[in-house]
Amino acid sequence: MDTALEARLRLQILDWVRERAEANGGFLHRQELLSFRIDGHDLPIIDFSRGIRNPAEFSSTLSIVTSASGPYDDAESDDGLLHYAYRKGDPWTGDNRKLRTAMETGQPLILFRKEQPNILTPVMPVYVVDDEPENRQFVIALDESFRYMGDVRELSEPQREYARRLAKQRLHQPAFRTRVLLAYETRCAICELRHGSLLDAAHIVPDSEPLGLPTTSNGLALCKIHHAAYDQNMLGVSPDYRVAINHAVLEEIDGPMLKHGLQEMHGRTIVVPTRAKDRPDRDGLAWRWERFTRA
Ligand SMILES: [Zn+2]
Repeated sequence: MDTALEARLRLQILDWVRERAEANGGFLHRQELLSFRIDGHDLPIIDFSRGIRNPAEFSSTLSIVTSASGPYDDAESDDGLLHYAYRKGDPWTGDNRKLRTAMETGQPLILFRKEQPNILTPVMPVYVVDDEPENRQFVIALDESFRYMGDVRELSEPQREYARRLAKQRLHQPAFRTRVLLAYETRCAICELRHGSLLDAAHIVPDSEPLGLPTTSNGLALCKIHHAAYDQNMLGVSPDYRVAINHAVLEEIDGPMLKHGLQEMHGRTIVVPTRAKDRPDRDGLAWRWERFTRA
């Protein structure tokens, strides 16, 4: 296939994945990726049975799938880059050759993080930035700038810090959102709104704190309004799952959003996940509740 055509298709695919993920709440279902069509042709975005998608007519890799091991990614290293092992077999042909072409041409790929069977969180665009034949692996970065940083094995401390920050924003946070939204069946814990595109995963203990881990039990699925109200301490959730609205807000007089969206939530009980291990951690809620009552 002509390089310009491949590049155009690739960008169309990236746009489509981004839009679908936004509509769902940050993730896609395996089936919708397998049944993707463009210009009247089938063009699956992931492979049916393998963790890498190399369409026959494409010169470089379109997507890779990695698995989640806890909150972190199995390909992730502590330098904030992803280390992707060579595919089995000859390092110079097939999948490995197409990953190398992606590195040489700088074409963007999609990394899909598999959170659960059939559910994938897209992280994109990502770039193959290094080839380490001695370790039989490629290095994948979450930002194009790493293509121009010289030897990624010799990054300066500020560059490493940047890579780690990117991993948090572009990999850990989207994956956290997917896990939390799935646990809450894509529903705001407070008002039960069911639009994935309007839902966030709020941290109970913020991620700036040592205990603020991106685990489901440190999360709450909240709509955008309730997330912002929670972060502003206008709204609190007690360790026994009660919603409280702060006094000043309760006494205000304003339009329907204030009345129905906030004041009427006072005293409700949040909706929690079915699985006990996904439910909000009571100690985390207590930590946060104390800050709400003090505010
Ligand atoms: Zn809500």
